[in-house]
Amino acid sequence: MAETELFDIFVIGGGINGVSVARDAVGRGFSVMLAEMNDLASGTSSAATKLIHGGLRYLEHYEFRLVREALSEREVLWANAPHIISPRRFILPYEKGMRPAVVLRAGLALYDYIGTRKLLPPTKTLDLRKDEAGRPLKDGYGLAFEYSDCWVDDARFVVLNAQDAQAKGARIATRTKVISAKRDNGVWVLDLLSKDGTVQTVCAKLVVNAAGPWVDEVLGATMGSNNAHNVRMVKGSHIVVKKLYDHDRCYFFQNADGRIFFAIPYEGEFTLIGTTDQDYHGDISKVHISDEETDYLCAAASEYFKNPITRDQIVWTYSGVRPLFDDGASAAQEATRDYVLRVDGDAATGAAVNVFGGKLTTSRRLAESVLEKIEHVLGKKGAPWTRVAKLPGGEFEPLAFDAEVRRLHKDYPDLPQTLIKRLMRLYGTKSRALLGDAQSLDDLGQHFGADLYQREVDYLIANEWARAAQDVLWRRTKLGLHLSKAEAEAVETYVTSKAA
Ligand code: FAD
Repeated sequence: MAETELFDIFVIGGGINGVSVARDAVGRGFSVMLAEMNDLASGTSSAATKLIHGGLRYLEHYEFRLVREALSEREVLWANAPHIISPRRFILPYEKGMRPAVVLRAGLALYDYIGTRKLLPPTKTLDLRKDEAGRPLKDGYGLAFEYSDCWVDDARFVVLNAQDAQAKGARIATRTKVISAKRDNGVWVLDLLSKDGTVQTVCAKLVVNAAGPWVDEVLGATMGSNNAHNVRMVKGSHIVVKKLYDHDRCYFFQNADGRIFFAIPYEGEFTLIGTTDQDYHGDISKVHISDEETDYLCAAASEYFKNPITRDQIVWTYSGVRPLFDDGASAAQEATRDYVLRVDGDAATGAAVNVFGGKLTTSRRLAESVLEKIEHVLGKKGAPWTRVAKLPGGEFEPLAFDAEVRRLHKDYPDLPQTLIKRLMRLYGTKSRALLGDAQSLDDLGQHFGADLYQREVDYLIANEWARAAQDVLWRRTKLGLHLSKAEAEAVETYVTSKAA
């Protein structure tokens, strides 16, 4: 044991909650290691609707604390990462027989009122018979409300937090599973299994269990607790179809069953439709959309759009499992979306902070709350700092995205505008580190398809833990939507040979 490394904090899980805790903690001066058993964001954190939002419908469940905290995070996070987070307008058509107009208006007034808003425009009413947003919809819609929330590239949100944590001194180990965490004389002894089969042992004073849907499994099988039945698994699926309309606003639709769903412009050429809400009891790592969910989403969207949405229009689907704290609610959509933190043990025995639930939107605040618990056990170090701290690449003002694209294009005039804009969205000011001295497409190396070149893949391997084509094509970027099967295979061959 004498040579085994000792960290103040060991974080299990490289989803948004784990990386946010690791970043905050290392920035305050704690020594931190994080292990993620697969790729960063390979769990729920890449399967979201990707909204930084207050959650309008949570008002119906009186989740005022959550909504207030979430709403006030919109502009904080947008300022922290203006490349991967951007504002969106949402159109909520009034529909006879569903929630009354007065309820919608009151909910949105409250949304505007309790959400700290300086840059996001307020709610307004629309007449869909006159507004362009009414054109793709069936006839008969008139009154609608248009309100603000933000959009985030969820998987990149995770990677950028991890990158910042690493830059500040945290050890981030991907493809490394925590197979055992046991207390020994007041410290945790953790066995870590790498994908290559090697096992490493490290020690920590405190463990943060941020394993998302696996939180109970880690609590029980890995940490040996008998109190391992805390979360309710609720599956949510999305479908992606060729774009259904040309404007840049999103729709927030109500369904006859009382649920709501979104239609959102996605990756330029597509529309994202989701989500479902179903209790899930299967294998978390094999979660996928069911025929029933596909039909549900097609039928729900077809109720609103003039042109029916059919299965053959679907180009991609994805599913994730919400690890909701089990508050005994009867229906999946009613289970609380708020997070719950539970501390087991203390400084003398070895403490653990278990994270149940949470949203992308509240991850920074969740990390601050976890740090309060940690400081209670390990003592205080630095003050909270993440509220005004930029994530890597986000070093510009929230409204300056277009100006940054123009500046980058000026530095790289011979590269296509579409590539420049895509890189700025993903990497922000780090695009310059990625492009380096390249001045033409030829300088970017092997071309894999769409606008993916070797230089970007090399950057992802060197700086963002990419180790497989999936990491590059579906999490660091969404170029998987644009590459053929053969092209994706070429990426796989390249990445695995390079990353070996
Ligand atoms: P995860 O992202 O699942 O991370 C946990 C990680 O732990 C996994 O990567 C897993 O591989 C790892 N792990 C597990 N066991 C081990 C082990 N033994 N060793 C090492 N690693 C381990 N939130 C929003 O704010 N806005 C939205 O629009 C939104 N939409 C959503 C839509 C859907 C359909 C779903 C399912 C969720 C949505 N959410 C949204 C919620 C949000 O996505 C999740 O709350 C959040 O991603 C959970 O993050 P996490 O870090 O807790 O879990």
